[in-house]
Amino acid sequence: MDVDYKVVIIGAGVVGLAIARALAIKGETSVLIVEKEMGIGQGISSRNSEVIHSGIYYPTDSLKAKYCLAGRDRLYAFCRENDVWNSKCGKLVVAQSGQEALLETLYEQAQSNGITEIHMMDRAEIQTLEPEVSAESAMFVGCTGIISAHELMSAFHRTSADADHDLLLKAVIVGAEPKGDIYSLRVEGPGEASYSVTTPWVVNAAGLHSDKTAQFLWGTNDKSHPMLRYLKGSYFKLSGKWRHRIERLVYPIPDVSHDSLGIHLSFDQNGEMKLGPSAEWIDDRSEDYTVNETEVDFFYREAKIYLPALERNDLSPDYAGIRPKLAETVNGHSDFYMKHEPDYPGWVNLIGIDSPGLTAALAIGEDVAGWIST
Ligand SMILES: Cc1cc2nc3c(=O)[nH]c(=O)nc-3n(C[C@H](O)[C@H](O)[C@H](O)COP(=O)(O)OP(=O)(O)OC[C@H]3O[C@@H](n4cnc5c(N)ncnc54)[C@H](O)[C@@H]3O)c2cc1C
Repeated sequence: MDVDYKVVIIGAGVVGLAIARALAIKGETSVLIVEKEMGIGQGISSRNSEVIHSGIYYPTDSLKAKYCLAGRDRLYAFCRENDVWNSKCGKLVVAQSGQEALLETLYEQAQSNGITEIHMMDRAEIQTLEPEVSAESAMFVGCTGIISAHELMSAFHRTSADADHDLLLKAVIVGAEPKGDIYSLRVEGPGEASYSVTTPWVVNAAGLHSDKTAQFLWGTNDKSHPMLRYLKGSYFKLSGKWRHRIERLVYPIPDVSHDSLGIHLSFDQNGEMKLGPSAEWIDDRSEDYTVNETEVDFFYREAKIYLPALERNDLSPDYAGIRPKLAETVNGHSDFYMKHEPDYPGWVNLIGIDSPGLTAALAIGEDVAGWIST
């Protein structure tokens, strides 16, 4: 078959790069990654909490639970082997008076998902472990951690580049046409360039644009296909006086009305603390990453519940990210959509890869590479 590449991956976020890495390990060298930004990992993958999730939250049979659990321990091992910064610091999910039953339900969900490194704590134990944190009870989750998303993506990209994969930056896939057993992808950029690339395998890992990218085949009128809703999340950072004052991540009871985890406390490798993300539906799908300063009161109120020493002027606006949520939910949960499309052989869609997509990426990459026969 005379084609330009055996596989084209749309999007150089953590998911697209994880797939490229896995293809490289399989020995596949004819791979093109197309990315509209100036570098790798400029999309959702650089605007998140950088938490290695345990998998406690997701419905047991969901793809989120499957890939989070499959990805998590492999990710820790990968970090060790590839010198990617991470810390298995653990986390506390805290319950205030009246929320104990909700925490109990979460504990049962965690157990049915097979999470082992968990145990419940009372107020005195919480105080001993984290003196700054106030709560009636908590679930300690030992397998949660933090990671440098950029070091992870660089490590994935190194393996892909070593296998001679091509990475085309500042280039956008603007259309796709099936032609027999192959796809002809229309590419614009860099600059004024406009041309077609042919391939039998397309992996749509386009993050916030993944539903629109799938519509290149499906068209825009068929509403039976997955569509995204954008859920913006802003972060506020804490002043330097908070650095290293808390050693474990602290999460409230999840915000079920937004299918999000609530305003939690996390930190980076320098011990800089941040609060977030908030949860705001963006109905016009604008990609506006401005952090609205007026949200400070909301962040302060939410975090003060479990951090009594927090003062309002400790908070300043940090950054924002946008979660690509599947519009269709099951019992209020949106799952990943991952499919080698039966009606379009050779076309793989990855839609709605929101949290825990960073944790799951390694496992997603390995599975998707396994679907691809070249
Ligand atoms: C606020 C927030 C907090 C989160 N926290 C966590 C967390 O703590 N732990 C965790 O595990 N997960 C977390 N996540 C989820 C995680 O960040 C994502 O699941 C993951 O980064 C998705 O990666 P991706 O490669 O699918 O998307 P992206 O990183 O967005 O990559 C897609 C790429 O495709 C490119 N692209 C799009 N369309 C085209 C086109 N037509 N042509 C060429 N290129 C195109 C984009 O520019 C982009 O770079 C969080 C997400 C958010 C928003």
